[in-house]
Amino acid sequence: MAGNRKACVIGSGSNGLAAAIVLAQAGLQVEVFEAEQLPGGATRSMELTLPGFTHDFGSAVYALAASSPFFSTLPLKDHGLEWVHSPAPLAHPLDDGTAVVLERNVEAAAAELGPDGRPWRALMEPLVTHWHDLAPEVLRPFLKIPRHPWLLARFGMNALRSAKVISCRFKSDRTRALFAGLAAHSFLALDEPLSGAFGILMAVPAHAVGWPIARQGSQSLANALCAYLARFGGKVTTSCRVDSLDALSGYDLILCDITPQQLLAIGGRRLSETYKQQLRKFRYGPAAFKVDYALSAPVPWKAPECARAATVHLGGSFDEISASEREVRSGKNPERPFVLLVQPTLFDPSRAPAEQHTVWAYCHVPNASTFDMLSRIEDQIERFAPGFRETVMARHVLSPSNLESMDANLVGGDISGGVIDLRQMLFRPTRKLYATSSPGLYLCSSSTPPGGGVHGMCGFHAARRALAGLQ
Ligand SMILES: Cc1cc2nc3c(=O)[nH]c(=O)nc-3n(C[C@H](O)[C@H](O)[C@H](O)COP(=O)(O)OP(=O)(O)OC[C@H]3O[C@@H](n4cnc5c(N)ncnc54)[C@H](O)[C@@H]3O)c2cc1C
Repeated sequence: MAGNRKACVIGSGSNGLAAAIVLAQAGLQVEVFEAEQLPGGATRSMELTLPGFTHDFGSAVYALAASSPFFSTLPLKDHGLEWVHSPAPLAHPLDDGTAVVLERNVEAAAAELGPDGRPWRALMEPLVTHWHDLAPEVLRPFLKIPRHPWLLARFGMNALRSAKVISCRFKSDRTRALFAGLAAHSFLALDEPLSGAFGILMAVPAHAVGWPIARQGSQSLANALCAYLARFGGKVTTSCRVDSLDALSGYDLILCDITPQQLLAIGGRRLSETYKQQLRKFRYGPAAFKVDYALSAPVPWKAPECARAATVHLGGSFDEISASEREVRSGKNPERPFVLLVQPTLFDPSRAPAEQHTVWAYCHVPNASTFDMLSRIEDQIERFAPGFRETVMARHVLSPSNLESMDANLVGGDISGGVIDLRQMLFRPTRKLYATSSPGLYLCSSSTPPGGGVHGMCGFHAARRALAGLQ
């Protein structure tokens, strides 16, 4: 590829940076324009509470980044990225004062799950063993000929089923609760098709690669990607919001790490009316309501085994989590929300002053909800960790609108770049996928396949598609 070709990327989220790296590796001169002061989008960290406490603004747990077929090819360790693993990926406390722990090793997990050890193993183990072949198949557009058809078929047998149907194979309420928490990452109701696939796709990498956090915070992943891009001459300009595509001239390719709503706002005459109409039909999903805490002590869990896992799911039984997610899908703010909590400083003390801690927690709410969920989140934490409120030195609330004001891609607080249901999984955001109605202009955010999560594969595939269009 000729070195005098020029490309720019709008947005420096993990997908924008992945796209920029693919283009730069191909020999193009690449510039990235980022609206915010720091690169990384929802992969940034900052002092949100008190001086000396580093918080992950968005993503915190990196099963998909560690599994990413693209990121795995990059020497990010040489640029400061270090994965930190807690002894177990996940804990799920229950009202009897105990917790179900998802062990990383499948055999150990099966032992922990007692009567459900066998069905758990039967469901997960074949996919865990072949995760490095399966990950590239599921982290790309679905309507493509698979390289490992039998493996995809094995996954596909369960992929369309709901979490409710899949959980019927477990005898114990403990395992059903654990699976509900995994499936609830989908933002779907647990009786909706595909919700089961999310449960499996969260559990399989937990066993195969773990659910690591990034030492010193998620910014170290974004910084490593920027540093690697710089090796190819790529440049990231921060505090530079692109308000109109008309302002960008002289580029052979423009890749947009933004969502359909923003492309409509800046696209102007470059987009055809038909394409604009298709983009307007794109649906955003439920939002996150997030709280970051600075704590004087670790979370005082009733079940001490919760301290073995960086991620803790709070929501009790399958039925409770299911009811809470159904409420969110029907536009209500749940009374007892499902809370995802991360306690990074137990395993990475570099993020807080000695003996003090940070906690990252969020729950699901309807898109653009203005309801204050703080006390409901804290009630759920207190339910499993009485005395938690006494450890809080400072808290910082990120409502859906706060999230969007700090990263324009988080439309209405949607952290997945749009609903991932069957239709929007296949045609994301339109039948053209990465391409738009304008030659040389592509979308590369999580509103394209394979969707949300930090894996960079939307950017990777978009850039490959764009390079193919150049020739
Ligand atoms: C609270 C929260 C928790 C999450 N937890 C996890 C997790 O634990 N693990 C996980 O894998 N994923 C998680 N995610 C999801 C994950 O972070 C996203 O799916 C991922 O960041 C999407 O990457 P992206 O590059 O598509 O978009 P983003 O990371 O959102 O980046 C988009 C970038 O584009 C910039 N931008 C937008 N418009 C313009 C413009 N006009 N001009 C210039 N720049 C612009 C934005 O400022 C931003 O930097 C979480 C997200 C959030 C918000």
